Amino acid sequence: TQPPAAAPASIDFASMDGVDLDHFWMPFTNNRFFKQNPRLFVAASDMHYTTADGRQVLDATAGLWCVNAGHGRAAITDAVTRAAQTLDFAPTFQLGHPLAFRLASDVARIMPAGMDRVFFTNSGSESADTALKMALAYHHARGDHTRFRLIGRQRGYHGTNFGGLSVGGIGGNRRRFVSQVWGVDHLSHTHGQAVRFCRGMQPGNGALAEELEELVALHGPETIAAVIVEPVAGSTGVLVPPQGYLQALRDITRKHGILLIFDEVITGFGRLGKATAAEYFGVTPDIITTAKGLTNGTVPMGAVIASREVHDTVVNGSPEGIEFYHGYTYSGHPVAAAAGLATLGLYREEGLFENAAALAAHWEAAAHALADCPHVIDVRNLGLVAGIELAPRDGTVGARAMEAFHRAFDAGLLIRVTGDIIALSPPLMISAAQIDTIFGMLREILNDLA
Ligand code: PMP
Repeated sequence: TQPPAAAPASIDFASMDGVDLDHFWMPFTNNRFFKQNPRLFVAASDMHYTTADGRQVLDATAGLWCVNAGHGRAAITDAVTRAAQTLDFAPTFQLGHPLAFRLASDVARIMPAGMDRVFFTNSGSESADTALKMALAYHHARGDHTRFRLIGRQRGYHGTNFGGLSVGGIGGNRRRFVSQVWGVDHLSHTHGQAVRFCRGMQPGNGALAEELEELVALHGPETIAAVIVEPVAGSTGVLVPPQGYLQALRDITRKHGILLIFDEVITGFGRLGKATAAEYFGVTPDIITTAKGLTNGTVPMGAVIASREVHDTVVNGSPEGIEFYHGYTYSGHPVAAAAGLATLGLYREEGLFENAAALAAHWEAAAHALADCPHVIDVRNLGLVAGIELAPRDGTVGARAMEAFHRAFDAGLLIRVTGDIIALSPPLMISAAQIDTIFGMLREILNDLA
């Protein structure tokens, strides 16, 4: 053991002096590889990051799909500072503070009609597990004691906690962790059903959703609690649903008394040009999970929005005492709530959802212009999201896209890759010219790829 380092009087945020890479075990990272050649950010403003070696990097991923209003927004940082100075922490178990109630009302205001009860978490993973437990609590409160099955989807991502992992459909995330929630099934994902290079939503119908009827027939509707899907799957490479699919899921779940959960951790807060994908697609689920854009990524926070029916059933279904044995020390944390209030204020005042909607056609055209680049085998898009799929190199999945990621970073462009898919999701305050810059840079990078 070493003596503890002296506490710095003030932290020099941009300095690499004394930074030791060994101790931080990085998430979802090849730690050994990364630490040989670390890529570090020391500052961010608007559409750009500044790297430790002083370069500007254009952010085509809104951080990790979260910085929807752009970086370094004074309205948010001021609110965070003031909240930390005024009320650093307050419990929300049997106590409360005004900021959490205010934010819940602000969130409720932009949700689909009837969805206005808000439960706070600290992340997308916690939101997923909260939503699943909420669904189980709902059926239990109704006296439906046999509804415990949960249905997710292949290539679905609902975070890394045990519930979300279990309904998620990414083999690599699941395989090593044997103990999962019991009674989970998966629907097929929605990609590959129609032509590649489809612009926006694939034409189609709800046929794929009929798989849900098969599971209902197999297990009996009285055993199924909830179906959870990302309206547009993000983390596994931008999978846009066929037209009619989400509505068909809604119809089937409603018919059988099954709750429908939309995981809107990525699609929530303007990514598709509306407050929610539910609004964009005109399909109202029973529960919506969010995180990321809720606080513009500044302070960790998520929110689960329940329909009044789900909320009232749980809350009134318990004759006395606590109704929902669930929550987090930091649920509705004052500093995060302040960040959320300021963030939603920015979205409103600057019309950022509307900006995303207005630029979606330009974004689509710019993304699909890459269709003739070498190695590109698919381009897909919706709102301000795009996925560009590359052919695997020598049968090794991910190698080519990872090369693109490194080349882009060196050229001053931040992209995200998953397998051989490049996923793009810029801050919503982007301009048409910046969209052209992103795809222009990407074209050069793709042209240079081995
Ligand atoms: N759900 C979805 C749809 C996500 O995209 C993510 C994160 N990318 C999560 C859940 C998990 O969120 P977090 O990393 O905040 O736990």
